[in-house]
Amino acid sequence: VMSDAQRKTIYALSTPMGKAGVAVVRISGPDATQVWDNLVQTNKKRHLEPWKLQRCKIIHPGHQEVLDDGLAVFFKSPKSFTTEDVLELHIHSGRAIISSVLNALSALPYCRPAEPGEFTRRAFLGGRLDLTQVEGLKDMIDAETESQRRIALQAAGGASRAEFEHLRTEIIHCLAMVEALIDFGEGEDLEEGVFEQARAKASQLQEKIKAYLKDGRRGEIIRSGLRLAIFGPPNAGKSSLLNFLAQREAAIVTSLPGTTRDILELSLDIGGLPIIVADTAGLRATDDLVENIGIERARNMIHASDVALCVLSLDEIYDPTSSSFHIPTALKELVTLETCFLLNKSDLAAARLPDAQIQNVLGKNAWAASLKSGQGTHEFLNQFTETLKQRYDFSDVQGKNTPLITHSRHRVQLTSAAQFIDSFLQYPIEDIVLAAEELRYAAQAVGKISWTIDVEDVLDSVFRDFCIGK
Ligand code: GDP
Ligand code: ZN
Repeated sequence: VMSDAQRKTIYALSTPMGKAGVAVVRISGPDATQVWDNLVQTNKKRHLEPWKLQRCKIIHPGHQEVLDDGLAVFFKSPKSFTTEDVLELHIHSGRAIISSVLNALSALPYCRPAEPGEFTRRAFLGGRLDLTQVEGLKDMIDAETESQRRIALQAAGGASRAEFEHLRTEIIHCLAMVEALIDFGEGEDLEEGVFEQARAKASQLQEKIKAYLKDGRRGEIIRSGLRLAIFGPPNAGKSSLLNFLAQREAAIVTSLPGTTRDILELSLDIGGLPIIVADTAGLRATDDLVENIGIERARNMIHASDVALCVLSLDEIYDPTSSSFHIPTALKELVTLETCFLLNKSDLAAARLPDAQIQNVLGKNAWAASLKSGQGTHEFLNQFTETLKQRYDFSDVQGKNTPLITHSRHRVQLTSAAQFIDSFLQYPIEDIVLAAEELRYAAQAVGKISWTIDVEDVLDSVFRDFCIGK
């Protein structure tokens, strides 16, 4: 239930302040029709037709001066973004015009300026959006790459909401079976083995939740960016690689404040993948990997990353006479099966070393290139990007593999739901009342992801239906 202060009609400029073709001023609340009466003048004597974009003049409610020539559209409650009456004024975008319209609105005693996010908040409170859609909407505005846009759209469009709701309904169904048992006891009213049925259903649901959780964090990674750690000995070409990535492939290059002062972080768009690159280049002072502090920092950085790329200088690690590779011991400690390698400075080698030969030794994600001459860099980047795409399945964001979990909040709740179901499954039938409680918590945990309606309300209604249906 909204308080009166919340219910007051709000207004805001929904587009950026400045010169552009169109600016949109949004008004939402019970008095949106009054705003139309006071500010909008159409040819048809101010006639208000919902959901129809109409040519109009915007006039000052006091002295009746024409402020702008524009368009107005009225969305009648509840079929609007906020579920309230909404009026949109499409005016020319210029500082003076926008200011004059906002001033006119501020002159209306029943209106007040909207707070940040207040339209979305009302949409949420009105039940128009659930929390995953609110997040999706925000993520959509923040999206900088294709894959981010896609997962945000999926959430904003309500697909995630539907999925979580479905899961919750199934848990509640399971609970309803158990509750029925508690009420009537096993016997004539209910078939035998209802508890066993509920348990079977619960373990199915648990499997389903576990499958959602086993997604390699793809959704969160796409949303917040894949964290790539570049490490290697001093002078191998780490900074050169970073420059190469930033100049060649980055649509967006933003400096982020590093986690520590010494680590440089860049946010890049590499082939549609949002990638946050951390470079130990910032470790220059202690770059010497023989020093423990350098190794320790690199280790921490690698640990906090999704992908690690080790840059080595080919001439330092490859001995052409014996055809053998020597990886510095300090680095070996940091290398895992997942580590990718770039053997830089291939221009210094007397003869070209085929990637196949390198991959025999270092695994399939190893390439030789020269960041100085450009030799092999194109192939490296293509194949490296392909490796990431395969690993994180970015290519299939639209397909049925679309990750459901895009925020750690979702993961936290699903994990605890799985734990509650696990507890439920531990109880013998004698403790059925306690067991039911676990299922109720599980449903509540999933409900917190969407947070649309009071969990108890739905629970009551479904339970009631179940009993009557029986
Ligand atoms: P970092 O210490 O690992 O960050 O290495 P830098 O990127 O700062 O490079 C160290 C030195 O190696 C610089 O003088 C670069 O110009 C040079 N360098 C980088 N890449 C190449 C390459 O492919 N070939 C050659 N010959 N020199 C390179
Ligand atoms: Zn460097």
